[in-house]
Amino acid sequence: MSDALNQTPDQNEEADTFVLWDLRVETRAVAGREMVCNHAEGSYFEVRGEELHFPSGQPFPMYPLAALLPLLPAKQRPTDAADWMTTDTDIACPDPHCGAIFRITRIARRTFRHDDVTVVPMPSPTPSSGS
Ligand SMILES: [Zn+2]
Repeated sequence: MSDALNQTPDQNEEADTFVLWDLRVETRAVAGREMVCNHAEGSYFEVRGEELHFPSGQPFPMYPLAALLPLLPAKQRPTDAADWMTTDTDIACPDPHCGAIFRITRIARRTFRHDDVTVVPMPSPTPSSGS
């Protein structure tokens, strides 16, 4: 019936997993520019799967967080070497008067299993993709 039934357990296990990067987002100051928001140079948070992790007692302003959020899922995923999402790491503060940037660094790869993160079934493998 399903091609998955003809695969070894190891192949099934491999096909049921995917990898995301854990990220660290760190506040940095641009030389010669004042940070006008309430940023602390070196403050950071990390992204692990769908979760944001903030160090205990360290605040992070919501306006730059709102600007950063749309980029994080793309930065978590493996990207082509020529893709700007691979090479570009610094995001400017959304306040145009502020000299803060936020550096996104890929810090570790984390493997997830499909069935652990969704109830939507994976598509059945197709024998070939000719059309
Ligand atoms: Zn700022």
